[in-house]
Amino acid sequence: MSSGACRAVIFRPPDTLRKSMHEKLCNVAVAVPLRTTFTYRVPARLAAEIAPGSRVLVPFRKKSLVGVVTDWVEEARPGTKLRDVQKCLDLLPALTPRLLELGKWIASYYVAPIGEVYRAMLPPVTELHTRQIVVLTDMARGAPANFFDESATKPNFLNKLQAAKNGLSLQTVIRSGMPLADLLKLQRRGLLEIRQQIHSRKRRTQRIIAWKSNDESVALPPKEERLRNLLVVERGPLPLSQLLKLAAVSRAFVERLLHEDKLESWEEALDLAEDPFDTGYTPPAHTLNTEQEQAFGAIRARFELGEFGVQLLHGVTGSGKTEVYLRAVQDTLARGKTAIVLVPEIALTLWIGRQCRAWFGARFEGVAVLHSALSDVERAREWWRVRNGEARVIVGTRSAIFAPVDKLGLVIVDEEQESSYKQEETPRYHGRDVAIVRAKLENAVALLGSATPSLETFHHARSGKYELLTLAQRVAERSLPSVEILDLREEFRQTHQTSPISSRLREEIRECLNFKTQALILINRRGYSWSVICRSCGANVQCVNCSISVTHHKSRNRLECHYCGSVQSIPKKCPKCDSQYVYFFGEGSEQLEERLRKEFPKARIARLDRDTARTKRQYQETLGAFADGALDILVGTQMLAKGHDFHRVTLVGVISADSSLTMPDFRAAERTFQLMTQVAGRAGRGELPGRVLIQTFYPEHYAIQDAVKQDYAAFFERELHYRQVMAYPPFTSLANVIVRNASLEKAITWSRKLSQFLAPHNGDGLRILGPASAPLARLKTEYRFQFLLKAKKKAQLTKILGGALAFCDSNEIPQTAVLVDMDPLQLL
Ligand code: ADP
Ligand code: ZN
Ligand code: ZN
Repeated sequence: MSSGACRAVIFRPPDTLRKSMHEKLCNVAVAVPLRTTFTYRVPARLAAEIAPGSRVLVPFRKKSLVGVVTDWVEEARPGTKLRDVQKCLDLLPALTPRLLELGKWIASYYVAPIGEVYRAMLPPVTELHTRQIVVLTDMARGAPANFFDESATKPNFLNKLQAAKNGLSLQTVIRSGMPLADLLKLQRRGLLEIRQQIHSRKRRTQRIIAWKSNDESVALPPKEERLRNLLVVERGPLPLSQLLKLAAVSRAFVERLLHEDKLESWEEALDLAEDPFDTGYTPPAHTLNTEQEQAFGAIRARFELGEFGVQLLHGVTGSGKTEVYLRAVQDTLARGKTAIVLVPEIALTLWIGRQCRAWFGARFEGVAVLHSALSDVERAREWWRVRNGEARVIVGTRSAIFAPVDKLGLVIVDEEQESSYKQEETPRYHGRDVAIVRAKLENAVALLGSATPSLETFHHARSGKYELLTLAQRVAERSLPSVEILDLREEFRQTHQTSPISSRLREEIRECLNFKTQALILINRRGYSWSVICRSCGANVQCVNCSISVTHHKSRNRLECHYCGSVQSIPKKCPKCDSQYVYFFGEGSEQLEERLRKEFPKARIARLDRDTARTKRQYQETLGAFADGALDILVGTQMLAKGHDFHRVTLVGVISADSSLTMPDFRAAERTFQLMTQVAGRAGRGELPGRVLIQTFYPEHYAIQDAVKQDYAAFFERELHYRQVMAYPPFTSLANVIVRNASLEKAITWSRKLSQFLAPHNGDGLRILGPASAPLARLKTEYRFQFLLKAKKKAQLTKILGGALAFCDSNEIPQTAVLVDMDPLQLL
């Protein structure tokens, strides 16, 4: 190349900065861990399709990535090498303007990369299954033909659209000669809609293969023998696809045996038990009682105002909060608006979803359920149904707060105190807090519900920032269960037994079995034993990756780490001193179940924890069996405590309140109080009164005392006082910063470095503690150091955290090594 050509380039403004008349530029948030957007050129062919909120495919480094268009820009930052957007994935922008704005708020408040925020808000990318459908809007349907004054509009096309009730596929329309640009014009004028439809490739039935011939005397060729063994002895009838894999035989081979009548096959419905709406009981609608009526009245009054507001429905367990939610949703729909109902866990989406379906489904065809256990395709389909305006009530877990509904009128957050609303990976947002911000952006009402509100929420309600609605009584004059404390020190003095089931609890269980009612037994740890210790040297077997004891799982015959999932075989000798006196200590749910089976051999017992409820189906089967009365005793972890409405439970036993009380966390008392109250609330929900026994070594602790009295107000006052003295939320805001790396040396160097930036900010309403070794000093092979930031004002924290991350960038501390958690729920 000649030097002259080079000079010519230098004298002109660089290409990248010159925006020709027709050239449009946009910023795109790409899902990479960088806290910035990137500018791209929009080629003319895509100009009509792209709008803020659209998902686009863009070249990024050497790959193509999906990103979200955040805004139009006049010019790129100097020095940017501009590249073209490759493709637009949506004709209807996936994110509404309000959701775009919400994403920006999340990115700035939680100091999270904007592209990762939008990725968390969007459905999984399942483009292969997408189809665009063109439909006339209601407005267009009634309109006279000359209303469509576009010259390009062919009457023929309109007639066809008028006739096609379910719309026409976009491809067909374009092939018939209608230019896309004209369609988009009509869309902007509100005359037609272009909807994104996801087909489910999921088959509704599957083919099951079974061994047919039962003549055992015949000697079979080895391959057939293997198949027979699998289908008769080892597994029983199997779906064809699974059989092919397990037996390593060909489809042709199976077909031949079918033909020879050695095998038989039939079609079986797929996942019927998992389809939340096909089966199951839905409670009847009730006439509201006086308290419910009052609460609902206040909610309606708030709707009348037509402006943003937050209400807290504080109702004791069994006070009929769900009934109030459903009325509030009904009222919202009647006003032509939409509602999102957030629940803390998947099982409750099914339960509340079913009730919503029963209430609203028939009239509006419009209930969508969104949660993480749906397959990608199902989730995308539900998401687009919402975006297309086909669903007006959305029930879901945390991320359903991003449901792309228009005209949002109401957001309900059930059990607002639940920690499952907090996402523990980037973006580390809190679903309840985002719900409030979204309600504000959309001028909607946020309704938080709980029997045991978080300290923060109740504090706002008492200070008048939120409106407090109270349901103090259970429905139908049912009494709250009577709760008793069982002092384990006393028990030991009398019996010298170390069984986790006290003699008193044993009595109560027996009574329960005699009367043919049901018992729930809560134990806080899963596994068989939660500690493995050497009697000679006192060493405790730890995970190879984490600084935490491993748990013994007897049925799986191994040791597991509950933090990283790694497994070890059970040591015969102490790994430290070689002594053979290794013993297991601390009873978990697996061992408790075994013990109960021994003590009550006739009782029908099941266990519910993350080991037994690995799938949604297992979980529902167990809960279903319990609800149907096919079980007498259900043992389990906190999974038991949440929201379920069992009517024949007369006894709830808590094996130990202490494991949550002694956690090294300022919220330990609050969590214990909440858990005890919630689990106690499972008793006596039907006609029969309930009894609750809480075993503890700390009977005087106020969290336990107040839970026994089920006195939220008293607990709140005491806990609030403690928070004030200790300068914890709600009196200060917290942020947790963790510096982590597999190399101890690097982790130390980087946290010292970061300290240079943070330390000078100490004072002025801001306190910085650390760096100190984190309570979980090593996790998943990484060493961890912690800074705890406390501030009077949240804005201060956001500012300093932004500064800290920028400091890390300029000091070559990798972004992956620094974890920032705003409003943390866990300080481990
Ligand atoms: P909460 O969520 O407050 O613990 P639920 O909403 O689960 O309570 O309601 C508890 C039970 O009371 C449910 O079985 C519900 O059908 C029933 N229920 C709700 N409202 C009424 C009412 N007004 N009269 C009678 N029963 C009611
Ligand atoms: Zn030892
Ligand atoms: Zn581990």
